[in-house]
Amino acid sequence: MAPSSRLSLVIVLTFSVSPKNKIGGKKTMAELQDKTLNCRDCQKEFVFTIGEQEFYREKGFENEPKDCADCRKAKKQARRDNWNRKDR
Ligand SMILES: [Zn+2]
Repeated sequence: MAPSSRLSLVIVLTFSVSPKNKIGGKKTMAELQDKTLNCRDCQKEFVFTIGEQEFYREKGFENEPKDCADCRKAKKQARRDNWNRKDR
């Protein structure tokens, strides 16, 4: 009859519910997975590995790589060749 008894029931309910929510929150913590992407240049599939994703995140890159490792290497090499040619 007294309103205070109803209030204590509500408190018990919220306490029994909250631990479940905490477990759910833990599960949503980012779990990285290897991602398969398509290269913009050669259209080949390449894997954006967990290690690379962590590296990108560390560097603050928000975009995923658009080229596969081979094309990236080739581009880097081409840039270097170009630069050397101009230099000499
Ligand atoms: Zn490629």
